[in-house]
Amino acid sequence: MNARLQKLRAQFDALHIDAFLVTFLPHVRYLSGFSGSNAICIVSRSSQFILSDGRYTDQIRNEVTDWDIFITKTDLLDEIRKRRLLPRGTRLGFDGNSVQFSQYQELKKLFPGIKFLPKAECIEKISAVKDAGEVVKIQKAAAITDAVFSELLPLIAPGVSELDLAAEISYRQRKHGAEGDAFETIVASGERSALPHGRASAKKIRNGEFVTLDFGSVYEGYHSDLTRTVAVGKVTPEGKKIYATVRTAQQKAIDAARSGMKARDLDAVARRYIRKLGYEKFFRHSLGHGIGLQIHEPPRISVLSKAVLEDGNVITIEPGIYVPGFGGVRIEDDIHITGDGITVLNRSPKDLLIL
Ligand code: ZN
Ligand code: ZN
Repeated sequence: MNARLQKLRAQFDALHIDAFLVTFLPHVRYLSGFSGSNAICIVSRSSQFILSDGRYTDQIRNEVTDWDIFITKTDLLDEIRKRRLLPRGTRLGFDGNSVQFSQYQELKKLFPGIKFLPKAECIEKISAVKDAGEVVKIQKAAAITDAVFSELLPLIAPGVSELDLAAEISYRQRKHGAEGDAFETIVASGERSALPHGRASAKKIRNGEFVTLDFGSVYEGYHSDLTRTVAVGKVTPEGKKIYATVRTAQQKAIDAARSGMKARDLDAVARRYIRKLGYEKFFRHSLGHGIGLQIHEPPRISVLSKAVLEDGNVITIEPGIYVPGFGGVRIEDDIHITGDGITVLNRSPKDLLIL
């Protein structure tokens, strides 16, 4: 954990801050190791402390080392004030993307002598580059998701509802050791498969439909994210062409991904191919995103992204084509960018399955 604190402190001069306040729980976990549901951290140049409440007395001492730990019965921010943990005049950075405006107002009221400075993505910048231990956890989350996908295939049949499949996914991921689902599972069949984010509904699967399943698991805090589209019974020639286009676009992007590449150039690899086949206007979202302690985190792989891929990034590659009134196809894998190439973390088959 100390390497992470060093990387945070190394930004203090450029950010013109003396200390950094962390309230967003995935960031608390990333920096300190604490996985409870109530905590605040403050990292200064020479110290780091974490506050939580009495429910976590034992857990926090097991999970957190080399931090000053304060357990309080009252409000965490009020405890900081009472203990005078922030010297007057401190320039305190905080994550402007996760602190709500009302929280910010409260902070200013409680600590009139502190200068609060909103900063963006200070921790994401560090956490986008995964260490080996983090990659092992994401790999495990991906393996759980792959195992559940293969168990699910025999269950996908006419008459089965999308909700049924979503329930099987949640249940089976936990049976395989996941802490939970990485996000609300998407099961979208038939015309609904043209909805890129079609949450599972009561709709029953029918013969001749595409079914898109997009789900992931959480393992020791780390997320996986997998999408496969399968056909039920039969598939039209147009459906086959759409599937083959997405399949090839995804493979081209995987083959092109490497450290040092601009994220928007990677997005362009898939988008260019989809354009060549005439479906560009039906690919309406970005190519991918980083995954880790959050399901969506930098680097973003999109037309507008300014990110450059780095050794240690773990990202998704997920092109899709969605034709309203017809249906859609998306294929998504998680990949790890390494010094000498990439590793695809998922093993689920990608050639068109007609069940
Ligand atoms: Zn996904
Ligand atoms: Zn995704």
